[in-house]
Amino acid sequence: MSLLEIRDLKKHFRVGGGLLSTAGTVKAVNGVSFAVGEGETFALVGESGCGKTTIAKMVLMLERPTSGAILFDGEDLASMGSAGVKAYRRQVQTVFQDPYASLNPRLRVRTIIAEPILAHGRPERATLRKRVEEVLDVVGLPKTAADLFPHEFSGGQRQRVAIARALALNPRCIVLDEPISALDVSIRAQILNLLADIQERFRLTYLIIAHDLALVEHFSTRVGVMYLGNMVEAGPTSEVFAHPRHPYTQALLASVPRPDPDHRPPADAIRGEIASAMAPPSGCKFHPRCPHAMPVCNTEFPGWRNLGATHAAACHLLELT
Ligand code: SF4
Repeated sequence: MSLLEIRDLKKHFRVGGGLLSTAGTVKAVNGVSFAVGEGETFALVGESGCGKTTIAKMVLMLERPTSGAILFDGEDLASMGSAGVKAYRRQVQTVFQDPYASLNPRLRVRTIIAEPILAHGRPERATLRKRVEEVLDVVGLPKTAADLFPHEFSGGQRQRVAIARALALNPRCIVLDEPISALDVSIRAQILNLLADIQERFRLTYLIIAHDLALVEHFSTRVGVMYLGNMVEAGPTSEVFAHPRHPYTQALLASVPRPDPDHRPPADAIRGEIASAMAPPSGCKFHPRCPHAMPVCNTEFPGWRNLGATHAAACHLLELT
């Protein structure tokens, strides 16, 4: 059974309607489904505005879904009582993108890491102190780090503190929101290695939100590619990267910069701008940018087509094969 399951999830926002604007609905997430197995790393990728961050917020209970369901260990969040929700919040933690913004600059690291523990119980002082020092050790920081303030650390060390805080309650799942994109390139690999180590050690499940495709390729086991609120392709990362079947995935992968001065982007590299989520194109939302668009693409939303046991994509082209 999957640890985390997302079923036909939707999040629609009402926007505008004031003196200077007309009201409308942004379908930020519009019927997304996927499942994440225990110990797995599932990556959500796509350009900004595709809905991946909104999904993360719903998983973290920071946004309420418009419809659909989020199941954790088979239990629907919407039907959990307060004790169930509290247990869920303990088991699902997060590491945000920017360790400069996510750590309170006025608190010592000891208090920052202790905060989630104290939100879920009243351990004795010695127990709390021991737990803080334990998680600092897990992330490779000395005990003395507990007495310092965030500004006394480098960016990489701050992200280690953020990871220690996420580990404080022994979670089963961590939502990683662009966990290395704000860090210096020279220390990104160290943080990724740390995340991989603790995943193996504690059998953690990761849901990672990322736009860095090189990170996704090396770090995730499965990937879901999103475009304007919908998932358009999903499957094992190695397979999707080696044999992308949706034109958007193909264009996204073709846009990845290569460290080769003679490299020129291929013809199918992504073109144009993503459409407004308030007025998305009819039919396939990718059709104004798609080099393979056909008349049917303007009018009919493509359904999912299985491309093997675990790989699928939503594109009318696949109906022709
Ligand atoms: Fe392109 Fe049509 Fe496929 Fe959409 S459905 S990706 S427009 S070929």
